[in-house]
Amino acid sequence: MNLTSFYPGPSQLYPQVEGYLQDAYRSGILSMNHRSGSFMDMLAKTVADMHVKLDIPTDYEVYFTSSATECWEIVSQSLVQNRSLHAYNGAFGQKWFEYASRLHPASGHAFGPEEDLNLEGGDHVKSAEVLCLTHNETSNGTALPARTLHKIRQEFKGIIAVDATSSMAGVALPWSAGDVWFASVQKCFGLPPGLGVLVVSPRAIERAETIGERDHYNSLLFLRDNFVKNQTPYTPNTLGIYLLGRVLEEVPPIADTALNIARRAQAFCQFLNENSYKILIKNPEVRSPTVLTIEADENFIKQLKEKAREAGILLGTGYGAWKATTFRIANFPAISDLSFAQLQDFLEKSRL
Ligand SMILES: *Cc1c(COP(=O)(O)O)cnc(C)c1O
Repeated sequence: MNLTSFYPGPSQLYPQVEGYLQDAYRSGILSMNHRSGSFMDMLAKTVADMHVKLDIPTDYEVYFTSSATECWEIVSQSLVQNRSLHAYNGAFGQKWFEYASRLHPASGHAFGPEEDLNLEGGDHVKSAEVLCLTHNETSNGTALPARTLHKIRQEFKGIIAVDATSSMAGVALPWSAGDVWFASVQKCFGLPPGLGVLVVSPRAIERAETIGERDHYNSLLFLRDNFVKNQTPYTPNTLGIYLLGRVLEEVPPIADTALNIARRAQAFCQFLNENSYKILIKNPEVRSPTVLTIEADENFIKQLKEKAREAGILLGTGYGAWKATTFRIANFPAISDLSFAQLQDFLEKSRL
């Protein structure tokens, strides 16, 4: 049986993907050389639709990579000469910090999941060239409010890189508050894994040019050289780009999607409160609308997950420190309202 997945990545695909896969095969694009006209047109159209549908500023450039993890490394390679600063409150932000630390000096600024991020101008802030933030911490279901990002933009003069893997295409991102934004498509884009999206500001490009790093196949400048010609530095995930292009054609503008996601998150949180489910993150200001984390007894969660499977529902497992004592629900655009109603039905019947 095909389960309805509430796993926050890889996640439930848009049901249209089945047809798009067949279209991709039949169109012949999958056998095309990536320097061919057909491929370049498809790439250009997909990048243009990213700008339109996600409301990305026209002077920000869009490149495709293999994953968000690759983007962590691209930031380190091409934008950090001395030191990066990582503000994190969960497993993904911490992992990025650890990966970066192996490549160059990096400082960490840990903060509590219920707290709003406040950098304070300490020495570790002043000495950092690049500030690395996780917009939506998928491990615990927190998010940085737009107002916080704008405030940080005023305070921090260097490059700001933001991991928006589980929020891009689900919420309206405050693009101007960051220089580098990236995501993988297996979260809010409702697509199969294997493609990353990297969005960069003119400032980030300028900074990359000043540094002039071109030592890697995925150096930012080398990526850019290729993408300005609608090409890619290596043979790309043509199927992934094709599917992304088809999904972007179909989805409403991000403002509409974001409204729906916010409304559904609010309704679901209210449902949880009314049915004695405990949301891990108590502070609504920093609670993510796209990944909801529910805290419960370890045994209860085990049983709940089994019962859910029998009911055709795949609940998301907890992550990192919260692995055994939470479960996660992806509130991603590809999941229908009907599926959410079924999930609520199930949770209502199964509560303690
Ligand atoms: C899923 C996720 C990643 C990793 O994505 P990959 O596609 O595996 O590279 C990174 N950061 C966050 C916040 C995520 O949710």
